[in-house]
Amino acid sequence: MEPCIFCRIAAGEFATPFVYQDSRVVAFHDINPQAPVHVVVCPRAHFPTIREIADESLLGGLIQAARMSARTLGLADYRLVINTGTEAGQAVPHAHLHVLGGRTMNWPPG
Ligand code: 5GP
Ligand code: ZN
Repeated sequence: MEPCIFCRIAAGEFATPFVYQDSRVVAFHDINPQAPVHVVVCPRAHFPTIREIADESLLGGLIQAARMSARTLGLADYRLVINTGTEAGQAVPHAHLHVLGGRTMNWPPG
């Protein structure tokens, strides 16, 4: 089966510059940014959603990668989003979170 797009990005197939990377997690700029800064953070390993991630240290590592990415990009305030399942707006079936910043955010989200 074809690896999914985030698996391919994480494997370096497109030479995507990483805002942050470590042995388990990568972060890169979203191709269709919804804010002046919009970074996607995902595990290198494939999980369809965060529901399937049992390893709490990996969950923590994703949050830490998001914080590091925000710091690297000079964001003091930012929003972390995890769309989980299609009804919640998840389009790419590889677990990931969004780091959004650089503008005032609205609440409630749509
Ligand atoms: P979701 O809706 O699944 O929570 O978010 C998926 C995100 O991945 C979207 O914001 C979309 O713009 C981004 N995305 C989809 N394909 C690619 C890609 O090939 N490269 C990058 N950098 N971002 C992508
Ligand atoms: Zn994948």
